[in-house]
Amino acid sequence: MKTARLLPLLLAALLLAGCTQDTVSSPPPSEAAGEKHSVVLFAMDTVMELNAYDGEGQEALDQASELISRLDGLLSTTDEDSEIYAANHSGGLPVTVSGDTAQLLERALALCGDTGGALDVTIYPVVRTWGFTTGEYQVPGENALASLLERVDYARVSLENGVLTVPDGMEIDLGSVAKGYTGDRIIETFRQAGVTSAYINLGGNVQTLGAKTDGTPWRMAIQDPYGDGYAGVVEVENKAVITSGGYERYFEEDGVRYWHIIDPATGRPAQSGLISVTIVTDSGVMGDALSTALFVMGKERAIDYWRSRGGFDFILLGEDGTVTITAGIEDSFSLYGDWAGHELEVIRS
Ligand code: AMP
Ligand code: MG
Repeated sequence: MKTARLLPLLLAALLLAGCTQDTVSSPPPSEAAGEKHSVVLFAMDTVMELNAYDGEGQEALDQASELISRLDGLLSTTDEDSEIYAANHSGGLPVTVSGDTAQLLERALALCGDTGGALDVTIYPVVRTWGFTTGEYQVPGENALASLLERVDYARVSLENGVLTVPDGMEIDLGSVAKGYTGDRIIETFRQAGVTSAYINLGGNVQTLGAKTDGTPWRMAIQDPYGDGYAGVVEVENKAVITSGGYERYFEEDGVRYWHIIDPATGRPAQSGLISVTIVTDSGVMGDALSTALFVMGKERAIDYWRSRGGFDFILLGEDGTVTITAGIEDSFSLYGDWAGHELEVIRS
């Protein structure tokens, strides 16, 4: 079920980056020559696809596959051998973690603070109670949510010199940032192996290295939240294109849809008026963190955040059908398919 829902995401990037482009209104050039090395694998609860051109492509893919399984093993909330599991079940005692876990957590905790807690990596007790980790979905009552929220506060997590302390009863979930961090590490691995052109799709988190081998930008699709098609296309080089959407993982009860992105202020699925948030930026971990956080914030707070921080661009799809983008991608973004006629607002600083 989960995999079935992820396949359209995988195809979205495949179709536009690859050579099957007859569904795109203005077809991009097909991939130019250059030896292509690819692998598809399942990790971090999602389908991952890696494509590397030139350089030591096959060796780079092997190293990246190893890296993915190592990071999955460190960061998983459910794997009893993971570092995060150990910290979550330490009874409040300090746990020494690896460089990767520490580095990711440090970035993530900083972004929790910077987004005013819209991102909160200690949300796990709430996410689990809703059933998003197990598939045993339920709508928790008000009292249950109130007591769960007492166990949510990233500021109480301590990380010093690679020693992580999660207070007793609290639990960390890096689901909002782990794929972005993994993407950054893969791109780094590719670069070191002399790969000059690559794109990876980690369950809808797309990251690119360089341009296509013919020198033209990658054309990456933004999933239509209401179907298997696309809402838009963005042309990028050396960028992460990372989307958080209410359509990615959800359940329905009594005609109401409940999705996996939780507003830490309420403990309920974020109802911010947005259905999809895409971040275009240099850093996967930042893109991943901000796609989740801006989904929680909603349009107005997202615009304020962008104006005060910068360093990234966004594409916001509203539940009312409006599309809002930042000026930096004005010339590289176009609406697509059913969304082609929608209102497009460009935000300037
Ligand atoms: P993403 O798909 O990157 O938006 O991440 C969503 C995942 O992050 C969910 O499946 C939860 O595991 C976790 N999560 C949900 N809400 C939040 C939040 N407000 N802050 C941090 N993590 C969250
Ligand atoms: Mg995210």
